[in-house]
Amino acid sequence: MLLLRELLREKGLKVTPQRLAILQTLKEGGHLSIEEIYQKLYAQFPSLSLATIYKNLHLLLERGIITELAIHNRHKFEIVKEPHSHFICEKCGKIEDIHLSPEICEKLNQKFPDSRQEVYIYGICPRCRGEKGEKE
Ligand SMILES: [Zn+2]
Ligand SMILES: [Zn+2]
Repeated sequence: MLLLRELLREKGLKVTPQRLAILQTLKEGGHLSIEEIYQKLYAQFPSLSLATIYKNLHLLLERGIITELAIHNRHKFEIVKEPHSHFICEKCGKIEDIHLSPEICEKLNQKFPDSRQEVYIYGICPRCRGEKGEKE
């Protein structure tokens, strides 16, 4: 289990309830936009503004704790994990992490040192496929 408190300290950031809440939300939600984070935290922190979330996200990005993705032209954030690609359902917009084999990452890093892997795979998720019925 990822200890969010430790993660912040390790990167030299002060542990604040807001930062912990933002990270917790990302941990549970997987990939969220700033508006989605705001909506999820509003009940818990009514005084938390979009600007404050933005400032904190920026800091977390800078320290390499979270990473930013652009999906359907929307910025989504997630906690940094091992390199992986993303499956995006074209129907419901669901985002799922897909494991990238270490061999691929190694090959890429050899050819393009310090590259960042951002792979997107588009299709229809099993749930959306299921809703059409199983006649076929
Ligand atoms: Zn779907
Ligand atoms: Zn991901």
